[in-house]
Amino acid sequence: MGLTQQEALDLFRSDDLIGIGMAAMEVRRKKTDPRVATYQIDRNINYTNFCTEYCSFCAFYRPLGSKEGYLLSFETIYKKIDEMLELGGTGILLQGGLHPDLRIEYYENLLRSLKQRFPQVHLHCFSAPEIGCIAEVSGLSVRETIARLMAAGLDSIPGGGAEILDDEIRARISRLKCTSDEWEDMHRVAHSLGMRTTATMMFGCGEEYRHRVNHLERLRRIQEDTGGFTAFIPWMFAPENTPLGKKVPEATAVDYLKTLAISRLYLDNIDHIQSSWLTPGIKVAQPHERRRVAPHHFRRRIHPRSARYAVSFLFLEVNHSGIKFGLYGYSFCQTRAALAMPASSDAKGSA
Ligand code: SF4
Repeated sequence: MGLTQQEALDLFRSDDLIGIGMAAMEVRRKKTDPRVATYQIDRNINYTNFCTEYCSFCAFYRPLGSKEGYLLSFETIYKKIDEMLELGGTGILLQGGLHPDLRIEYYENLLRSLKQRFPQVHLHCFSAPEIGCIAEVSGLSVRETIARLMAAGLDSIPGGGAEILDDEIRARISRLKCTSDEWEDMHRVAHSLGMRTTATMMFGCGEEYRHRVNHLERLRRIQEDTGGFTAFIPWMFAPENTPLGKKVPEATAVDYLKTLAISRLYLDNIDHIQSSWLTPGIKVAQPHERRRVAPHHFRRRIHPRSARYAVSFLFLEVNHSGIKFGLYGYSFCQTRAALAMPASSDAKGSA
């Protein structure tokens, strides 16, 4: 039995980080083999940064017509996947802005060409807001859209675009983007079609603890009904170069660790909690390295610099064993570090 909403609120207000972490560790011990944490090497690819939504927390998007905007060619995407494969990667997280000119045929062609060229690569693509945009632009229902994307080769759907699933907050930070109910509906439809998805939460964007709890409660209810989430990934809002960043205090590392642990306790019906160092930073990731355990087949193939970050959170599991999902951002950073790429070469951004 997971936490009640009141218990979760009490934990968020508590200073007992170690106690919360120990309780989370107990849950983890019961759910999975505590000696094993798994991860996957994958790469984030942002196929376009053009977007119509103007989210105030986003430093990634460019308005239509901007000289800094781009739409990657298929060839460029192939090249990025080739680089990922050279490092032993097995999947991509493909996301972008909401582009009003790209109809479903574009996405079907892209997925088909990727599956044909890279049949071994897991395609974890297009968050709920992107799928909503594709459906709208193409005059299709969400169900038809997801079914067609699946038929074209989509393997799973990332949980991006959730931010805080409470419309009081969404109205402030992503007014034009899908509502909490629409995000939920898209994941429910995907699950009903047999498509697995992940769930995320971006916190530290001016919300109160009660909003985070509402978010977790919504995810737990969906999972109770569908069982379709494979993992939950919380991360902190990165304030640099954003309008919102000038208005809200930055979340702390303690807040990150506490939120990660409370997530494990609350979402007792979601198998896996993923950790990340993309926004918390390497200092917060350091304790993760305490329990560095990797599956043998990955350990052999992983690049030495990437292996340094093949880590598990202090007291929480990281990922699925034997499943093809990458760690959001986390694995992207591994790849980028291994490629010695500049930070701007593959900027994190998504709907
Ligand atoms: S977060 Fe996504 S939807 Fe919002 S502006 Fe950025 S790219 Fe667009």
